[in-house]
Amino acid sequence: PRQFFVGGNFKMNPASREQKRSLAAILNEATIDSSVEVVVSPPAIYLLPLKEILRKDIKIAAQNCYFKPNGAFTGEISPAMLKDSEIPYVILGHSERRTLFHETSEFIATKTRASLDAGLSVILCVGETLAEREANKTAEVVQSQLKPVVEILKEEDWSKIVVAYEPVWAIGTGKVATSAQAQEAHADIRAFLKSAVSPAVAEQTRIIYGGSVSAKNAKELGSQADVDGFLVGGASLKPEFIDIINVNK
Ligand code: 13P
Repeated sequence: PRQFFVGGNFKMNPASREQKRSLAAILNEATIDSSVEVVVSPPAIYLLPLKEILRKDIKIAAQNCYFKPNGAFTGEISPAMLKDSEIPYVILGHSERRTLFHETSEFIATKTRASLDAGLSVILCVGETLAEREANKTAEVVQSQLKPVVEILKEEDWSKIVVAYEPVWAIGTGKVATSAQAQEAHADIRAFLKSAVSPAVAEQTRIIYGGSVSAKNAKELGSQADVDGFLVGGASLKPEFIDIINVNK
């Protein structure tokens, strides 16, 4: 059985240290289902301050990193720095990074390799645009995003990867995928892992859904056979996030 995973991607929020403290207080005071792996991902400047004040059963993820350990790369942080700071996870390949910052699947694969080598776990994001879905290209696009990663990783590396399926048209739009659409995409990803990596990796890898997840739609989405949790954006900044974490209770 795959452990249910709920991630909160805060993106470039909260907008102040004070708001960051209130967010931590909400999480610290909540009763959360201990069977769920919970990870929250604040902006880089809040990684260590949040870690200081946050309860220890919630893990922290960076939202990005570079692939070199150190050097003349202005504006970047390295996997080694995250590891040294005891930040266990990094989100890579989010659609906002692919689109706004022009990251390619090959670049994301290189950063995934470097992150695993440094001892981090990776939340690897994939997903199609609306135009791609309407052209019936969802599976093809998602596979092309996964392929460079499959090529660069060894089978055992997959124990430290969580795949986040995030259809771009559902991100921040309030337009959530139906549970059938999510299940179909997740099953396709699992089938791809089975043929491209191994049946064991396909069986063990968590595939989580992201895109307008809310307390209202989490139950039905989360009950799908191949949906192993969520990556939550907007709702992770609200008390509602607790209800999403506890959706199976
Ligand atoms: P929303 O939940 O705000 O749609 O964002 C999803 C997301 O991008 C999580 O990484």
